Amino acid sequence: MQPPPGVTVVDHPLVARHLSVLRDRATPSNVFREALADVATFLGYEALRDLHTRDEDVQTPLEVAKGARLVDEILVIAVLRAGLGMVEGFLRLVPEARVGHLGIYRDEASAEPVGYYESLPVHDPEAEVVLVDPMLATGGSAVHALDRLREAGARRVRFVCLVAAPEGVATVQAAHPGVPIVCAALDRELDERSYIRPGLGDAGDRLFGT
Ligand code: URA
Repeated sequence: MQPPPGVTVVDHPLVARHLSVLRDRATPSNVFREALADVATFLGYEALRDLHTRDEDVQTPLEVAKGARLVDEILVIAVLRAGLGMVEGFLRLVPEARVGHLGIYRDEASAEPVGYYESLPVHDPEAEVVLVDPMLATGGSAVHALDRLREAGARRVRFVCLVAAPEGVATVQAAHPGVPIVCAALDRELDERSYIRPGLGDAGDRLFGT
């Protein structure tokens, strides 16, 4: 399936291999955790492709070479709890990034997302903000998180997930049309319990062995 505009599905054999490990129900939590961190690094590499750099000279052992320094302030914001599994992978790429957390649950009665925890670093409005959550299912939590980031003054936000459902992509794009989405797979559909199919089950449970 061709992804809609604004959605990048990272097409790479190593991403595909890691995604298979993550989908496999026999994968134990420790392996799942490692594979999620690794694939987050690959996704981050793609998602941060347009970061701004400043030229700087670097003295090699032999002569001066043209070098580059990142100029953007970078924030990684994890949606609790499964987003935690992607933070380490991002920090391998940008160790200086600051990390925020948004706790969101779905109210059983209203089916609406409710924020229960928020810790967002104070940041420059021009900072590059990466929201991470492995599963973009209904899109409810993602929209809630993106709303909160906008309210907190973030102007440059991108959303990185592992697996997206078409329904979630449509919901996020309707509410936040300018936010690029980067994922490893755009799956078929949501089922009646809002699980992504084929998906990988509950990412938080898989990650933490619950
Ligand atoms: N959250 C998950 O962890 N898995 C799904 O399939 C949908 C939402």
